[in-house]
Amino acid sequence: MTFSIAIIGAGPAGYYTAEAAQKHWGEAVVIDIIDRLPTPYGLIRAGVAPDHQSIKAVTRRYEATNMAPGTRLVGNVMLGRDVSVDELLGLYDAVVLSVGAPLDKPIGIPGDDLPGVVGSAAFVGWYNGHPDHAGLAVDLSHHGAAIIGNGNVAIDCARVLAKTVDELAATDITGHALATLGASAVRDVHIIGRRGPHQASFTTKEAGELGHLVRAQPIVRAGDLPPAADDAALDPGHRKMVTHLRSFAGVPRGDKPVTINFEFFRRPVAVEGQGKAQRLIVETTHLENGQAVGTGELHAIPCGLVIACIGYRTQAIPGTPYAEKLGRFPTDDAGRIAPGLYASGWARRGPSGTIGTNRPDGFSVIAAMVADGISASGKPGPAGLDALLSSRAVTTTDFTGWQRIEAAEVAAARTGAPREKLVDVTKMLQIAL
Ligand code: NAP
Repeated sequence: MTFSIAIIGAGPAGYYTAEAAQKHWGEAVVIDIIDRLPTPYGLIRAGVAPDHQSIKAVTRRYEATNMAPGTRLVGNVMLGRDVSVDELLGLYDAVVLSVGAPLDKPIGIPGDDLPGVVGSAAFVGWYNGHPDHAGLAVDLSHHGAAIIGNGNVAIDCARVLAKTVDELAATDITGHALATLGASAVRDVHIIGRRGPHQASFTTKEAGELGHLVRAQPIVRAGDLPPAADDAALDPGHRKMVTHLRSFAGVPRGDKPVTINFEFFRRPVAVEGQGKAQRLIVETTHLENGQAVGTGELHAIPCGLVIACIGYRTQAIPGTPYAEKLGRFPTDDAGRIAPGLYASGWARRGPSGTIGTNRPDGFSVIAAMVADGISASGKPGPAGLDALLSSRAVTTTDFTGWQRIEAAEVAAARTGAPREKLVDVTKMLQIAL
C-alpha cells in the first residue's frame, strides 16, 4: 500500500513540511506538493524583496526536496476550483494546508476603497511579478506616498519606491515595475506607525539599509524617540534596530532628492481625495499600556499612493474550519485542524517570523502525524489525483515544467539580473508543457 501525503502550497511552509516527511519516512512516503501556479516557492518568489536575492538561495534546498524520489510538484491545480479538501482527504492518508496568507488585511478606514489605496500583497506582488497582481495599476505621478505599518514589509515597499533604477536594475524586480518606478515622481515616502520606535517590528538589517540609499534620506523626528536610557530595556536585536532609527534623527537635510519620513505615533483615520487618493489623514497618538490612543490632533499627509502593510489573512476554504477573527485556520499547537487534515506556516500561525520559522513548523506537523498514527490506509494517493484531474480536464505541470520556465526566465534576464519573471500563467503553461 502507498503511504501518501498531499501538501497544498509550494512555498517555504510546504517544502519544509515535505522535507520533514522525507526525513521521517524516507522512501516509504509519496508526497504531492500541489500549487495553483505552475511556479513553486511561494513567497520566496513573490514576497521576498527583489533586492534581497541572497535570501532566495534557500530554493536550492527546496529543489532538492522536490527532486527526491516519491515527491512531485503538481502545478496549476487550485484547491476549490479543481479539487476539494474532502476529495484530497479521500485520496491521501494526510493533507497539509500550507497555503500561506495571500490576502491583505483590510485597513477599514473611510476612503480606503479609493483608487491609489492598495495592500502590500498587491503592491509587493506587483513588483515581484505575481500573476494575480502583475497588472495592478500603480500610479506614481505624484510627490507623496504613504506606507501604513511599522514592519519589514513597510520597509521593503519604502526602499523599492526610494531606490534608483540603477539600484534596482540588477535585482529580481520585474521589468514592468522597473519601468514604472523609473518614471516615478514620488519624492516623499512616509512610513506611518501607530506606535513608537520601541514598538516597531522592523529588524536591524532592514532599518539600517535605509541609511545607505543612493538618492534617499531617512528622517526620524527626534521628539518621537524615547530617552536613550530606555533602550536598555529592549532585547539586543531590537536595541540595535532602534540605534539605526536614532542615527536618522537630527541629521541635517542633505541634498538627496527623496525622503523617507518615519511618522511615528500617527494612526491612519481616513484617505481623502477627488475620485482618487490625494491625502492620508492621520491622528497623533500616545501610548497607554502599550496601545496607541488617539489625541484628536489630525494631520494631512499629501500622497497619491497609500500602501497598507498591516498584515495578511489566509484565504478561507469552503467546508474547512476557519477562524475569521484570526484570519487563518484554527489548529492546535502542532497544526492539527481535523482528523488527517493539518496546516503549516502562515496558514497555521499567521503572518509572522522569517522564512526559516517555517522549518520547525513543518517538522511539528509531521511529528503530529506520527503521534496520530497516520500510515498507509489503502487510499489511492497520486494515481487517484491524476485520474480525478484528468477526468476534469485539468492541465497540470510538474517540476520539469517549472525548470523549463526557470530556464526561459533566466535567458530573458536584464544584464546583472537573476531572471525576468513570466507573469502570465498561459505563457508559463506554453513553456512548461
Ligand atoms: P508585521 O511585522 O506584523 O507589521 C505589521 C505592522 O502593521 C505593525 O507595525 C502593526 O502595528 C501595523 N498595523 C497593523 N494593523 C494596523 C492598523 N489597522 N493601522 C495601522 N497600523 C497597523 O508584518 P509585516 O511587515 O507584514 O511582515 C510580516 C512578517 O514577514 C513579519 O514577521 C516580518 O518580519 C516578515 N518579513 C521579513 C522580512 C525580512 O526578514 N527581510 C521582509 C518582509 C517581511 P502594531 O505593532 O501597532 O500592531
